[in-house]
Amino acid sequence: MKSTLQSLYLLQLLDTELDELRELRGDLPETVNTMEEELKMVEQRIEECDEALKKGAVERSQMEKESLELIAKIDKYKGQQLEVTNNKEYDALTREMETAESTIASHEAQIEQTVERAEELKTSKTEFEARHEELVKELEVKREELKEILAATNEEEKTYETQREELLKDILERDLVLYGRIREAKGKAVAPIRRESCSGCYNIVPPQMILEVKKNDRLFICEHCGRILVSEEIAQDTSI
Ligand SMILES: [Zn+2]
Repeated sequence: MKSTLQSLYLLQLLDTELDELRELRGDLPETVNTMEEELKMVEQRIEECDEALKKGAVERSQMEKESLELIAKIDKYKGQQLEVTNNKEYDALTREMETAESTIASHEAQIEQTVERAEELKTSKTEFEARHEELVKELEVKREELKEILAATNEEEKTYETQREELLKDILERDLVLYGRIREAKGKAVAPIRRESCSGCYNIVPPQMILEVKKNDRLFICEHCGRILVSEEIAQDTSI
């Protein structure tokens, strides 16, 4: 049983070291991730602006071309009107010209809208481009910071993780589940007894229980904080 308690205590030492390393990195990895996602989004918006501008320009030139053709047609109709021999033909040409003129007018209105929309798109694009530039600069700084922290912590983290994996092989599943549950609730799952008190919650441990814990033949839980108690001796003998 000594080995189970010792293993659990060692597991806690390793987990504490790993927590501290992760604490060092703070929310930097998350920040970099969020910024990378924003950058992607901004790039997409810029692309969308470009596409909309291109589409607007194509529509505009199509309408302009069509209007020019209609103007030519109207000229042609005017010429034909001089040569018609009856009112019916004359009226028919007038109607053709009116239709062409109304199409030209509607094209003009649409072109005006396209021009306005293009202005809006250009403004948005400029704003997105400014944000893009800002983000690229900020990201460069944050990525560098993260790289430095990772370089400083990765080696250590790997060592502790390897040690942890090895250690897990020695611990029973049910003890691990208990450890995990307490760790989740309390941060640290194992508390050495120090000066007759639980070092997790500083409450006195009854003398009878101290004797029992010292036997190292079963798990005892602090009746105040619910942590696994280990003897002072085990704490002293165990290190990473
Ligand atoms: Zn306690």
